[in-house]
Amino acid sequence: MTDDGAGSGPWIFWSHCGSAKFDPRTNRITEIACPAPCCAMWVPLVEDMIVEHRRIDGTPCHWHGIRVIDDRGAAR
Ligand SMILES: [Zn+2]
Repeated sequence: MTDDGAGSGPWIFWSHCGSAKFDPRTNRITEIACPAPCCAMWVPLVEDMIVEHRRIDGTPCHWHGIRVIDDRGAAR
């Protein structure tokens, strides 16, 4: 994974995750369904990025650190 500064780096659209939970007060994404095939679980976001977590086989999920872009407004 490259690290070329804050605000950049790998990212995905929220719609790619298939499902997410939202904070009704702030309208921000709080958790997503991890898009990794072996990782059928809810994963919290911190500052729009997927936190470190483990897959169902116990290995670290490589999706951690991915920024999730909220594309609800564009998904029509
Ligand atoms: Zn995962």
